[in-house]
Amino acid sequence: MKQSTRCRGQYTDEPIAFGIYRCRTRYKKKHESDKEGGVKSSAFFYIHEVVYEEMIAYCRQGLPNEACGLISGPAGTDTGHTLWKLPNEAKQKNRFLLSEDTVAEALEEIRRKGDQLTGIFHSHPTKVAYPSAMDIACNPYPGVAYIIISFTDSPPDVRCFTMKDNKLQQLDIVLFRNK
Ligand SMILES: [Zn+2]
Repeated sequence: MKQSTRCRGQYTDEPIAFGIYRCRTRYKKKHESDKEGGVKSSAFFYIHEVVYEEMIAYCRQGLPNEACGLISGPAGTDTGHTLWKLPNEAKQKNRFLLSEDTVAEALEEIRRKGDQLTGIFHSHPTKVAYPSAMDIACNPYPGVAYIIISFTDSPPDVRCFTMKDNKLQQLDIVLFRNK
């Protein structure tokens, strides 16, 4: 049997920075700094508002468990045009699991559509919208927008990160209407 130390998409959501990210991304204007400190935000992730609302609704339906999925956009862009709702195979409140087969199948469909993977999302039913240590360690696509929807507040707190070059960076989410 092939031995592998690679994470296989299993996640545990123990917060590593509980309570320090309270600022809502959604209503933040472009170029407005995160006055509460934390991860510096200087880039954006553009997501269609229908996709954004659909993502929140899907995660809400999944409560009390975590929900997860992918986001795609036209090749060559960093935008979210299509939501791919995938099952949380762990069916747990503080963990999500996307098997390699499920991801491979979705990526194939994304490719067939002429899209590329631009985002990965999952919910935190009872934890803040900040990647857990396992989220960071097991993210197979560090350059792709990593979106977390936290239901600790109403409306939910939605935040977006990238983990390129082992650096966690927060991106502002910008909603758009027309494709
Ligand atoms: Zn998480």
